[in-house]
Amino acid sequence: MMRSSTVLGQMIARVADDEEYRRWSAQVERAGHCVRPVRLSGSAMTVNRETGEIEATYSSAGEPGGVLLVACKDRRESVCPPCAARYRADAWHVFAAGVRHGNDADHDADGPRGDDGGAAGLGDEGGHGAVGNPLVLATFTAPSFGRVHAAREGRVCRVARGGNRTCEHGRPRGCPSRHDAKDAMVGAPLCEDCADLAGQVLWNAHAGELWRRTVIYAYRALAALAPAVGGQALTVRAVRGLLRLSYVKVAEFQKRGVVHLHVLARLDGVNPDDPDQVASAPAWAGVDLLTAALMHAAQHVSVPLPVVDGHTAATARWGTQLDIRPVPASRIDGARVAGYLAKYATKTVSDSVNGLPASRPRAEEREDVGQGRAVPAHVAALTAVVRKLARLATCRTLRLARHIHTLGFRGHVTSKSRRYSTTFTALRQARRAWRLANGGRERDPWAQQQTATPDDGGDAGTVVVGDWRIAGIGYRTLGDRVLAEVLGREHRQAREAWRMGLIE
Ligand SMILES: [Zn+2]
Ligand SMILES: [Zn+2]
Ligand SMILES: [Zn+2]
Repeated sequence: MMRSSTVLGQMIARVADDEEYRRWSAQVERAGHCVRPVRLSGSAMTVNRETGEIEATYSSAGEPGGVLLVACKDRRESVCPPCAARYRADAWHVFAAGVRHGNDADHDADGPRGDDGGAAGLGDEGGHGAVGNPLVLATFTAPSFGRVHAAREGRVCRVARGGNRTCEHGRPRGCPSRHDAKDAMVGAPLCEDCADLAGQVLWNAHAGELWRRTVIYAYRALAALAPAVGGQALTVRAVRGLLRLSYVKVAEFQKRGVVHLHVLARLDGVNPDDPDQVASAPAWAGVDLLTAALMHAAQHVSVPLPVVDGHTAATARWGTQLDIRPVPASRIDGARVAGYLAKYATKTVSDSVNGLPASRPRAEEREDVGQGRAVPAHVAALTAVVRKLARLATCRTLRLARHIHTLGFRGHVTSKSRRYSTTFTALRQARRAWRLANGGRERDPWAQQQTATPDDGGDAGTVVVGDWRIAGIGYRTLGDRVLAEVLGREHRQAREAWRMGLIE
């Protein structure tokens, strides 16, 4: 194919040869219309385990341009919308599977789903939801680190109550504006000198540990509260033998640059003969007990903070706004909650806080984080505080220099307890099995490489041996990328039309 310097020229060159274009667009579709696929060159063969016979070979040499396109599989909406949609659908299944209290991955093996994560995957037993497994959706918030500008749906931002209209720095304590949610001011402190920026960064850095301790406290609270429910006194150890707190949590960045945790928490019973089973909780352990235990834990737990100049709080604690609501055992509610969490799972800090990169910058680019004209003043101030704290001996173990782009937050966006539900890996395997079973040739060497180990379960007694190298990331030309986006859009519209046709 001739290289052209204009995007239009590149597109024309791409569609010039009917047959090559057909094969290229088929590749793009197989890569899920990813906007920055990995281009691989190399070959793979399927070898019979028993006989050592080569049953099939595949080489990228036969593909357009001699490369195979493989989806980037990025979680982040801002990086790759089609791959994020796929991730969101997977996340939905992981969350929804836990809502159903089944960790039966087999049940989910209904193949690749649409871009919407469709409620169709919930299974058809319907209605049984979390019978015997009380389930709540809880939002754990951060405390206040000073007054910030807020969008209040047309109402006034901040009213300064009491005698003092200005702070000790001479700045107004109120703000008469009616901010739009998109206003760059939203989340910025009314007075940067009053705001406890160091406290906020340290809080972010300890949010993960605060949650870990919250789980421990919740077990203690369960032990303390259980007698009133079950009529028997229980030790923490005994409670752990009877109850298990399973959860999935998603971190969400607020505009002010601090994380909140959305947690789907479930109370399971424990089957001593089969610890991996998600057993029903005992009858006395209902949703009220779970709510009370989480509430109690949230109010009492704390994490000691390193001593830092100009910052006084000795511990990190949850904010007073704690929202815990039961998730009713219905399909609709379960689907809604799973969708709500899945939406956050594809967000990055940069989606909420202007001026921050979507991913961890390379070491040599760290100095640029929070700098430049597009960065709001309070975000620049916060990144400066992270840098300052990173240099302190008392904060060394926090490794803050690596977490400037997340304003100190060090955890994963999405995480779950071990036995919450089906895993992303299980879903990928299910999807792959589905593709194979449906006659689609498995051509995802990325997956093949990962699973092509001799002791891998393998399909039908074969093992895939691949030899691949990365030729590049993203489409080779901007024209290709534009075409891939058009194809993706057409694909989604066709799906939509098909679905509508089904409904009518
Ligand atoms: Zn992608
Ligand atoms: Zn304001
Ligand atoms: Zn002030």
